[in-house]
Amino acid sequence: MKKIAVVGCGAYMDSGYGCPGEWRCLKAAAMGEGKFDEPASVVSFVKCECPGRTLVSNMGMAMKLSEIKPDVIHLSSCLVDAKPGCPYSDGAEMAKILEDKTGIKVVMGTHDYH
Ligand code: SF4
Repeated sequence: MKKIAVVGCGAYMDSGYGCPGEWRCLKAAAMGEGKFDEPASVVSFVKCECPGRTLVSNMGMAMKLSEIKPDVIHLSSCLVDAKPGCPYSDGAEMAKILEDKTGIKVVMGTHDYH
C-alpha cells in the first residue's frame, strides 16, 4: 500500500467548516477514490500556513519525526481547486517546489466529493 502525505490549505482548514481535514481526503485515500487509484495509507497531513514559506520545511519535519518517507504527496482538492485561489502561490508552483526539494512525486488533488 502506498504511503501518502497530504497537504491542506491551512487558511481554509482554520476558517472553513464541513470538512477541512476532517474526512474527505482521508476517505478518498482509504477507499481508493478520487485522485487515489487504490487504497493508500495517509502517514502525514501537513497544513500549509500563509504565505506558504514553511511548507517544505514542515513537510521535512513530518518525514523526520514520523520516520516515514511518503511515496507520494497529494495537495488537497480544497487547495488546488480553491476559488478564489491562494493569493501567494498556486498548486502547480507549490507542487514543483515540493518535488524539487523532496524528490517525491506530487499529485494535484485528493477527492471529488462535494
Ligand atoms: S499560502 Fe495559500 S495554500 Fe497556503 S495556507 Fe495560505 S492561502 Fe492556503
